[in-house]
Amino acid sequence: MKNLEVGDRVKAPLGRGDRPVEGIVIEVFPPDRVLEALGDLDPSRIKPLIGSAARVSAADFARFPPNLVRLGLWISQYYCCPIGMVFAAMVPSAVKRQTGVAFRRFLERIEGAQPQDLPRSSSEALARVREMPKEAFPVDARGLADRLGHKTLSHVNRLIRAGVLRERVVQEVRAAVGPEWEAADGDRQPKPLTADQQRALNAIESGFGAFRANVLFGVTGSGKTEVYLQALANVLARGKSAIVLVPEISLTPQTAGRFLARFREVGVAVLHSGLSQSQRHAEWMRVMNGQARVVVGARSAIFAPVAEGTLGLIVVDEEHDGSYKQDQLPRYHGRDVAIRRAQMEGCSIILGSATPSLESWHNAASGRFGLLELSDRVGGGSLPPVRVVDMAEEGRNRSPADRRHQHSIGPALEAEIHRTLKGTGQLILLLNRRGYASYICCSDQGCGWYLTCEHCDVTAVYHKGSPATEGRGYVKCHHCLAETRLPAACPACGSRITTFGFGTQRLEDEIERKFPALKLGATMLRLDGDTMKRAADYFGALDRFRRGDIRALIGTQMIAKGLDFPNVELIGVINADTGLNMPDFRAEERTFQLIAQVAGRAGRSADSRSDSRVIVQSFSPGAASIRFASRHDFRGFAQREMGFRREAELPPVGRMARIVCRDEDGQRAENRAAEITRTLQRTAPSVRLRGPMACPISRIGGFYRFSVELLASSAGPIQQALAALRALGLVKSDAKTAVDVDPIALL
Ligand code: ADP
Ligand code: ZN
Ligand code: ZN
Repeated sequence: MKNLEVGDRVKAPLGRGDRPVEGIVIEVFPPDRVLEALGDLDPSRIKPLIGSAARVSAADFARFPPNLVRLGLWISQYYCCPIGMVFAAMVPSAVKRQTGVAFRRFLERIEGAQPQDLPRSSSEALARVREMPKEAFPVDARGLADRLGHKTLSHVNRLIRAGVLRERVVQEVRAAVGPEWEAADGDRQPKPLTADQQRALNAIESGFGAFRANVLFGVTGSGKTEVYLQALANVLARGKSAIVLVPEISLTPQTAGRFLARFREVGVAVLHSGLSQSQRHAEWMRVMNGQARVVVGARSAIFAPVAEGTLGLIVVDEEHDGSYKQDQLPRYHGRDVAIRRAQMEGCSIILGSATPSLESWHNAASGRFGLLELSDRVGGGSLPPVRVVDMAEEGRNRSPADRRHQHSIGPALEAEIHRTLKGTGQLILLLNRRGYASYICCSDQGCGWYLTCEHCDVTAVYHKGSPATEGRGYVKCHHCLAETRLPAACPACGSRITTFGFGTQRLEDEIERKFPALKLGATMLRLDGDTMKRAADYFGALDRFRRGDIRALIGTQMIAKGLDFPNVELIGVINADTGLNMPDFRAEERTFQLIAQVAGRAGRSADSRSDSRVIVQSFSPGAASIRFASRHDFRGFAQREMGFRREAELPPVGRMARIVCRDEDGQRAENRAAEITRTLQRTAPSVRLRGPMACPISRIGGFYRFSVELLASSAGPIQQALAALRALGLVKSDAKTAVDVDPIALL
């Protein structure tokens, strides 16, 4: 095979039987460097390729873009994942399987053709075809027959046989984005920018043409999206393309609609989880063929096949969002891959957020990235006042009769909800816990029995019955997803079973009891992973809320992200502490983000602004994350938190990787973690090690878990340490070992 290039798809013989397997060329060596390329490999074991694998057609890709090959190689190395798995994650399976490819037949007119053996009866058809304007072709056969006033295709077929028309078969991918995405139109015209926006845009544009990262730090509603839109317009005017990443949950028809409305002419591909396989294929091909020059999508859209040399800008909206990190192989972080891609392609990247990750904040503080700030909401107005309520105090203030019940809504929040319902405003209540109750135990305190998952080291969560379960309640483990029945009585002493801890289902009951105006399904909706199984459910719920017949939304962090509803007056955070006690050095950072983000959902219009407010209930009202978030003070929080990180050399000041060893036999898992630790002590002296230690969740799905954490002042030593482990065969990517570079979850 001559002229092979990086990215070419080839067939290679694998194994004893030379089973033909498709592969992608990742590197090409000139003949005089082949021996060097082989390294230690025995040349007699090298086999020639079988041939090309690509079926070159309109709906097929002959080459995997070489820029993506290079990006994939970096991911494979940096995140310790086999290159095959990386490529598999980069190309949607629908593209590999050619889902939705259809054939279409077109007729072209052969200009100046002298018809051979054309029957007399077809001469009128011939004359008419010759009179048709050039632009009428290519045309499909049925369309042409209709135009000629023929009921059958017989004359058309004769013209083909006579050489006047030529048939061409084109493969194409059916179906693009669904109509609901197209329908959203939003604002078509660029808005005159505020001074802040203009300053930010100028700074961004002055960096075009080379790698440049800018952190766009602006409170919710400060007009970040408008800055993206105008920066994109500039990039497109230069003939370049762009990728916009948004968290999966905020990729709604409304968000995508703003990009569609502005850039429909240059083509917008929207890659979201609601796409059918063939739609996904079609969108990918539109990007590949340059028919769509703006790509909007969640995490994996960073792998959009924008051609080499044409990428002008990458936007990562809500760059702090945890959903950018993939929690399975390859364990990449979409934002960090985006930064890497921008570096490789020599283009600009904007990292936007109201609560930037400390990683990005640190990069801006050190001058590696630019920092652009939008300090006010568009149209003026301040962020809503936040009142932090001490739940311990609230409990003491209750009447004795009230104290007999378990409450998740304290008197202060209750009064505010009543006030909001008396008026016309809407409200959002956040409780970051699904199910009914998270703690199932014996009512006899002396007994002390409580229910844990049989397979995991966690308490199981009680879920109320629903029509789907024929009304029966059940107990579910949120880690291994195992379900069981609620025991009728305590298995240890036979006493009554009781439940503690609030989930969204129990909140729903409490609300219906306390506020007759709120009825689930009619005036109130619950948004969490249990009720919102499909994207359509979620969009439907948001639509109803937007229309106003729904007064209240309750839900998990799903409702804290990116929603923009003008009429929301009251935000209640039921329990700000849910994430605070996690054994994770980012617990405070996440709590800050969650509260600051949800607080930004209120008062987004002039009408609701004057009367908007946020109530945060907490058992630890003094926690720094809660105090700073209630003042909307990101800078203050970041400064304090960075102090701790610096002291402990934790990310983002230092870098981290984590290796988790899993085994059904706990001792074996621990031994492997210990062996890895010993090897690292020997081979990587500049890496600090923590462990081997049992993971905070020491068993999931029957597998015991032990971890080793690697910490260093920069990424280099960690990469070297991991490479050494790989060379010794100590870390393979299998079910038993998970390597997570720059981990964001430490459970
Ligand atoms: P963010 O992305 O920071 O949350 P948006 O870009 O969504 O903010 O802006 C919030 C609202 O203000 C939107 O309704 C948007 O259309 C509007 N907006 C943004 N910039 C301007 C501007 N320069 N003039 C008028 N309205 C604007
Ligand atoms: Zn479990
Ligand atoms: Zn008991």
